[in-house]
Amino acid sequence: MNQALRSENANASGGTSHPPFHFDYVEVDGGSKNAHAFEHAGFSFIVVTRPLVEMLWDLSRRLSQSALVLQLLGIDREVVRLEAFQALLFQWELAFVVSHEYTHHIHRHSGSSSDRLWSEFTGSRPPGELEHQAQELDADGYALYLTLANYVRGAARQNALAQVGMQNCTGLQGDEFLITGFFVALTALFCSLWPENVPLESVSQRPHPPAPVRIEHAIRIAAMWSNQNTSVPESWFSSERFQAIYLAATSAVNGGGRPQWDSLVAFLRGEVGAAYYRELSDRFEVVRKAGEETVRVKPTHSQPA
Ligand SMILES: [Zn+2]
Repeated sequence: MNQALRSENANASGGTSHPPFHFDYVEVDGGSKNAHAFEHAGFSFIVVTRPLVEMLWDLSRRLSQSALVLQLLGIDREVVRLEAFQALLFQWELAFVVSHEYTHHIHRHSGSSSDRLWSEFTGSRPPGELEHQAQELDADGYALYLTLANYVRGAARQNALAQVGMQNCTGLQGDEFLITGFFVALTALFCSLWPENVPLESVSQRPHPPAPVRIEHAIRIAAMWSNQNTSVPESWFSSERFQAIYLAATSAVNGGGRPQWDSLVAFLRGEVGAAYYRELSDRFEVVRKAGEETVRVKPTHSQPA
């Protein structure tokens, strides 16, 4: 990971100047899952706590053993080593998380304190403070660009396909497999990170937008990426396809949590939820434009992770 961050193409950060990156895992008391981005002693640090890494590992194991996931991706468990598939899912999750933190650095998102420490999970925020959630969507979007660039069009493509016996999948067939697999991992990740039993009225006070919002946003961004990189057509991003991905992914998430998602989606379609979503979208547009000013060049073939 550090090698990738050190050889990070200037194109990926759009020429934004920043101290050299350093990635590491950290031990924490109390088992809290977290990731941090901060500058210290001449380095841009990206750190992930050990409980979060362990959660990613456990999640990728569950996904790799889910009959629904294997069926969706056309992976034959008699032929493919499930440990290799687990490793690929884990790589996707970790690459996404690190690219997300990387974006907080290069888009200069303002942390909660004056020393520019950005922490993913820092408890609740005052009502109406949606700036932070909008920055999270921005970090998701750019991380998605970087991860797809690397795994679908970049250096990691062939290894990723070979890892699960799909080396003969070429062209768009390979793209379809990789984008589907990545979205299985991403959907499961977003659902796992949303705590259970969040009262609907306090959705806007969480550090991140709820999982259905992050998933929908990610689908939109992936469709944009595909269009710009001549990958799968717009029609490929159908709600039926992503419903199947969602069902397969949540089959492996601890507890599944489906009733909770149903009530969340119903809330987002209601008056209060729709107003929240509109305001979040407006804030996101502002953050996105600011990010574009910081990073003028969208990456196409480089990724830090
Ligand atoms: Zn974040």
